[in-house]
Amino acid sequence: MFAKILIANRGEIACRVIETARKMGVGTVAVYSDVDAGARHVALADQAVHIGAAAPAESYLRGDVIIQAALDTGAEAIHPGYGFLSENPEFVEAVEAAGLVFIGPSAKAIRAMGLKDAAKALMEEAGVPVVPGYHGSNQDSAYLAEQAEQIGYPVLIKAVAGGGGKGMRLVEKEGEFDAALASAQGEAKTAFGNADVLIEKYITSPRHIEVQVFGDGTDAVHLFERDCSLQRRHQKVIEEAPAPGMTEDVRAAMGNAAVRAAKAIGYAGAGTIEFIVDGSDGLRTDGFWFMEMNTRLQVEHPVTEAITGVDLVEWQLRVASGEGLPASQSDLAIKGHAFEARLYAEDVPAGFLPATGTLSHLEFPQDARIDTGVRTGDEISPWYDPMIAKLTTHGPTRAVALKQLEQALTRTEVAGSVTNLAFLTSLTRHEGFRAGDVDTGLIGRDLEHLAEEPVACSRTRALAALGFAGLTEAVGEAADIESAGFTLWEPVPQTITFLYNGEEIAARITTLAVGEHRVEIGEIAHDVTRRAGIWFVDGAKTRARVRRFGESLSVFWGNGYVFEAIDPLARGGAAEEGGNIVAAPMPGLLKAVFVKPGAKVTEGDRLVILEAMKMEHSLLASRDGVVADVLCGEGDQVVAGAPLIQLEEAEV
Ligand code: ADP
Ligand code: ADP
Ligand code: MG
Repeated sequence: MFAKILIANRGEIACRVIETARKMGVGTVAVYSDVDAGARHVALADQAVHIGAAAPAESYLRGDVIIQAALDTGAEAIHPGYGFLSENPEFVEAVEAAGLVFIGPSAKAIRAMGLKDAAKALMEEAGVPVVPGYHGSNQDSAYLAEQAEQIGYPVLIKAVAGGGGKGMRLVEKEGEFDAALASAQGEAKTAFGNADVLIEKYITSPRHIEVQVFGDGTDAVHLFERDCSLQRRHQKVIEEAPAPGMTEDVRAAMGNAAVRAAKAIGYAGAGTIEFIVDGSDGLRTDGFWFMEMNTRLQVEHPVTEAITGVDLVEWQLRVASGEGLPASQSDLAIKGHAFEARLYAEDVPAGFLPATGTLSHLEFPQDARIDTGVRTGDEISPWYDPMIAKLTTHGPTRAVALKQLEQALTRTEVAGSVTNLAFLTSLTRHEGFRAGDVDTGLIGRDLEHLAEEPVACSRTRALAALGFAGLTEAVGEAADIESAGFTLWEPVPQTITFLYNGEEIAARITTLAVGEHRVEIGEIAHDVTRRAGIWFVDGAKTRARVRRFGESLSVFWGNGYVFEAIDPLARGGAAEEGGNIVAAPMPGLLKAVFVKPGAKVTEGDRLVILEAMKMEHSLLASRDGVVADVLCGEGDQVVAGAPLIQLEEAEV
C-alpha cells in the first residue's frame, strides 16, 4: 500500500478520498487554489499545496503543477476524483512519466472510451448492445440527415466528445434536423473543441441504468446497477440502487455486458457503464443499450457502497497499489436499498440558476451519509460546482430508504444561500417516483409542481415573529424576565414587523409567561410555547428550529423559510417628519438617554440609544425643537412603539 497519496481535486470528492486514505493509514496531500486555502479538504489532509489561482485552468487543471506537488511532498500516487483531470489520458501519461501511480485506468483505456463514437464501435465488437444509430466518421450534414431518416425519428444528436449533457439535441421530426445539428455542433465545438456528432435512436420512456464495474487490468467484476433516471436536462438529481423493477435475469444480462465491456479494454479501477433502457414495458434482457463509459469514480458511487458494503475508494487504492481484485463476483451481494440526493446551491424558481453565498449555517441530520466539502462559514464560490452535499440513505426496502431520504432532507439546515432542498423533498413525495415508476422525463413533465417553492404558513410566521422579538427562551429555563417581554409583570402586547419574500408581516405578540406566547397575524392566532428546547404550536409538538443570522432569520421546518428584518433605522428610527413623539422602533433596552425636558435639539441630534437584537441603535431627532418630556429612563425595557421622547409642538 502507498504511504502517501495526493488528491488532485477539491470539494466533497477530495474529502471522501481523504477519509478512506486516512482509514487505511495512507498519508494525504491536498491541493488548493487561492480561494480554497481554508477549504474543508485542505483542513482534512495531512499536507496541502497551493497550486494557483481560482480559475480551474490555473489550478485544478494544471497537471504539471499538480505532479510537481506530488513529487515535492513525496506522494507516490495521485487520485483524480471526478471531473477536472480524471479522464484526461495525457495527464495519466504525465503522471506515469514522473514515476508516480495514477489511481485509475490506463491512458489507453480512457482513450478507448473517451469518444462516444469510437467507444460504441468498440462495444459492438465486444458483443455489448449499443443504441441503434450512426456513429461513423462522415460528418456531412446532408449525409447525417439521411442517417437520421433511416434510423427513424425521434433521434438524438450527441457530441462524440460530449459530457454533462452538452452538445446533445433531441430531434422529433425531419424538418427540425438541420437547425438542431448546427446548434449541437456549435455547442460541441465550444465546449469540447470537437464538433463531431453521432446520431442515435431516441429511446422513448427511457430509463438511465448504469452498472458499476471494477477491474484490475485483466479481470473485472460488477457491483450491480444504479438507476439514475431522475434527471433534469440530462443531469442526475436523485440516484438509487438497485433499480426499481430489476429482475435477476436482466441484472445478470446487464452485469455481464458491463463486465465484457470492462474486460475488452483491460480496465483497471472503478468505472461505470451507462445504459439507456427502454422502460415502456418493464425491463427486458433485450431492452438495454450501451451509451457510454465513465472511466472514473462516479458522483453517485455512495449508493453502490451502501447496498454492497464495499468502500470503492479502498478498492481503488488497493488495486492501484498492485493488489488483485478484492472480491470475486460471487462474494458480492445486494443488501437493502439506497438513495442519493444532490443538494445544490441553486435558485429553483429562477430556473435552477447556480447560486453563491456564504453558508452562515449548515447542519445535517445524523442518520444519513453526508458527503460534503463545506462547513458552516464556508463560501459557495462562483468558480466551481455549487454542490453543497450529497445525502445518502440506506434502508431494508425502497420505501423505507425513500422515507429516510425525505426525512434527511427536511432535517437539513442551510442558511446563507438558496438551495434545491424543497425541490428534492417534493421529488421524494412524488407519487410516480414513490411507486418506482421512473423515466428520464419524470421531472420535466411535473416540473412546475416540483419546482414550486412552499410558502411559509402562519405557524411558521408566528415562530419567525418570536425569533425576531428575541423570545426564544423556554418554559423552565432560567430566563431573564425583562427580556421575555414583561414590563411590571404584566403581559404587554408588542407588535413585530418583518419581511417574507418582500411582503411585510406584522405580528402582535402577547407573552403570557416565560416561553408562552399568543401570536396574532391578521385574523389568525396561534399559541406558541417553547418547552425544553422544543416549539409547540397550538399544543402540537414540532420539529421547528428558529435561528437568527444577522438581519435574516430562518425557521427550519420542512425545508426552511427565510425571513428578513426590516431595517429599523430606515423605518421611524427618528420621529416622523414634523411629529412630536420619538417612539421605539422595536423592543429593546434603553442604554442611554441624552436629553432632559427643556433641552434644545437640532435635527440629527442623538436622543437615545436602544439596544435590541444585540445591536445598538441611535434614535435621532428628525427636526429642530425643544424636548417637552422624557417618557423613559436609562435601563428601561421597552416594547415596540413605546413613546420615548416628546417634543414641543413645532412653531408654525
Ligand atoms: P453525457 O456524456 O452528457 O452524460 P450520455 O450519452 O450519457 O451523455 O447521455 C446523457 C443522458 O441523455 C442520459 O442519461 C439519458 O437521460 C439521455 N439519453 C442519452 N441517450 C439517449 C437515447 N438514445 N435515448 C433517450 N435518452 C437518451
Ligand atoms: P418534520 O416534517 O421535519 O419531520 P415535524 O415532525 O415537526 O417536522 O412535523 C410535524 C408536522 O408538521 C408534519 O405533519 C409536517 O408535515 C408538518 N410541517 C412540517 N413543516 C411545516 C411547516 N413549515 N408548516 C406547517 N407544517 C409543517
Ligand atoms: Mg453520461
